[in-house]
Amino acid sequence: MAKDIGLDVPAPEKECDDINCPFHGELPIRGQVLVGTVVSDKMDKTVVIQRKHEILIKKYQRYEKRQSKIHAHNPSCISAKVGDVVTIAECRPLSKTKSYVVVKAEAQA
Ligand SMILES: [Zn+2]
Repeated sequence: MAKDIGLDVPAPEKECDDINCPFHGELPIRGQVLVGTVVSDKMDKTVVIQRKHEILIKKYQRYEKRQSKIHAHNPSCISAKVGDVVTIAECRPLSKTKSYVVVKAEAQA
């Protein structure tokens, strides 16, 4: 039975026994909720999310493209793949570079 994680996201269809799963484990989420695209799923239970945004450069009245990459935990009940648009939620640090967990994944056609 999946827990209510306090976010407006559907619970995953599969179950898992990952202790660091917000739905089936003991991982509380808090803080920021972000959306991005998975650019790598090669690591075990970790995905790399890329987020693109634009900032206004006042002097030239043009937008400059910026991007950032965030490592996020990928529980086996969600198992996001490269190309998926995912919602990630902030949690406690899970490793040196991971302090987000994937809470929703949508495969892109
Ligand atoms: Zn799970």
